[in-house]
Amino acid sequence: MKQRRAVLTLDVEEWFHAHNYLSQVSPASWDSRPRRADQGVERLLRLCEAEGIRATWFVLGWTAERDPGLVREIASAGHEIGCHTYAHPVTYDLSPAEFRDDLRRGREAVAAAVGRPPQSYRAASFTIVARSYWALEILREEGFRIDSSLFPVSHSRYGNPRGPRHPFRLGWGEEDDLLVLPMPTLRAFGKNWPFAGGAYFRLLPLPVIRAAARWVQDVQHDPVVYYFHPWELDSFRPEVDLGRWQNLRSQGGKRDLYEKLRRALRGQHSQTIGEWAQRVRAEAPVVKSIEDIPS
Ligand SMILES: [Zn+2]
Repeated sequence: MKQRRAVLTLDVEEWFHAHNYLSQVSPASWDSRPRRADQGVERLLRLCEAEGIRATWFVLGWTAERDPGLVREIASAGHEIGCHTYAHPVTYDLSPAEFRDDLRRGREAVAAAVGRPPQSYRAASFTIVARSYWALEILREEGFRIDSSLFPVSHSRYGNPRGPRHPFRLGWGEEDDLLVLPMPTLRAFGKNWPFAGGAYFRLLPLPVIRAAARWVQDVQHDPVVYYFHPWELDSFRPEVDLGRWQNLRSQGGKRDLYEKLRRALRGQHSQTIGEWAQRVRAEAPVVKSIEDIPS
């Protein structure tokens, strides 16, 4: 029987790290805000355990520093741990030197919590876009082996609809190349459509998500890469008014998410990012320099 592959990825951060809150909740106030990540993480751990799923958790260094026990709990349940920056910056707003500093700080904080340095990376809100491809070269130089920060879709803050849609290796060496795994999307009507995470997943009906997933898996032969955050599985509603549209984007569909996700994942062959990488690394085309990445 054909196995439909699903990769569950979870970005471990607080509700106020979401870029929807950037203009309303200043980083200087983060430490005075209620921390809630453990609530969503516990629910996600329970879901993974019940469905026999090993997930990939991209952990924010800021969170790893404040809740190292939570990160250890995730790792000791057998999951894979990656790095999700230190302070959740928008990549293309940083200079290369600032990006490198945040990256090192994030990696150290996550490594201190779990006892080994993470090998995989996801930028905050997929903000490695055409004008910040230089970040991939820095990730490679810093010894990361896998990146999951490219999303070939149209979005006001991130993505690049003309960007690469399939895995490629940046650099020549067998031991020091960076395998870039763009988020798989549904290709239809001349466009790339996201559906497997965040507000897209929460707001679309499950039958639509299932049909899209089957197309990606059976016709495009890609895995579906789901992506969520602990705050999406937490009933807590911040007392920050973002306006109607942004409120819908950050809060809509949260109540049903646990059950919807459980049903979407049931019967799928679950893989971690690392396992997917192992499967595709050898055959992924080599891209010698960032100038050769479609933009
Ligand atoms: Zn994030």
